Amino acid sequence: MKITILGSGTATPFLDRNSSGLFIQAPDLKIIVDMGAGTLRRMCEAGIDYKEIDLIMLTHFHPDHVTDFISFLFASNYAYGPMRTLPFHVLGPTGLEQFFNRLVETFGEWVVPIQDRLILQEMSATSPDEFRVKGALLKSVPAAHSFPCLSYRLETEGKTLTISGDTDFNEDLIRLSEACDTLICECSMPDSMKVSGHMTPSEAALVAQRASVKRLILTHFYPPCDAIDVISEAQSVFQGTILKAEDLMTVEL
Ligand SMILES: [Zn+2]
Ligand SMILES: [Zn+2]
Repeated sequence: MKITILGSGTATPFLDRNSSGLFIQAPDLKIIVDMGAGTLRRMCEAGIDYKEIDLIMLTHFHPDHVTDFISFLFASNYAYGPMRTLPFHVLGPTGLEQFFNRLVETFGEWVVPIQDRLILQEMSATSPDEFRVKGALLKSVPAAHSFPCLSYRLETEGKTLTISGDTDFNEDLIRLSEACDTLICECSMPDSMKVSGHMTPSEAALVAQRASVKRLILTHFYPPCDAIDVISEAQSVFQGTILKAEDLMTVEL
């Protein structure tokens, strides 16, 4: 499994840190997790073809996690250049179908994939859920955020990856992350600037430590996180490997 960080930032426009996005190359499966503004551009920079994506996993519907999904749908229908022909799944919390229907109300047929290629799959926003696709097992739990949001765990060919989504510290995320190879965890603000519904470096590290994960990747940084040493703050709690996500960084599992 290979991971490419497409956006390590947030709602705040920031040249070096795109809004949230992640690419996962799993065996027989190309996955995008969240599509904030600029995700498609980062995909171009990373050499990832949008026409080959099998699965889009949306953690929640805050704009910095979904706005390029609209552009993706439009691009997937564009009939004057090479066109997407493969079906694709879109996973999201309860409300995904309503979200999509509202996009259609706004943008019309332009965002409705032709030939029934789009397969929407809602995951419970209130209890643990799971979904299997092409030999991969996807598990989700509700996150502790200001908007219904999911944390995901992906298991395939003996490798495990957990992605927190936007969330405050919570026990469900610790259980979901149990002994995983890599936890990609949100880390919105420094320890000294804690905000509700998000985590700090020490809290992300506590999830990693309690869940005995092998490696922690911190991401989803508001600008104050680049004014401090987030890894040092996290290292005081978790002694395993810690990486600070940067846009276009790649890691192997
Ligand atoms: Zn966010
Ligand atoms: Zn959010």
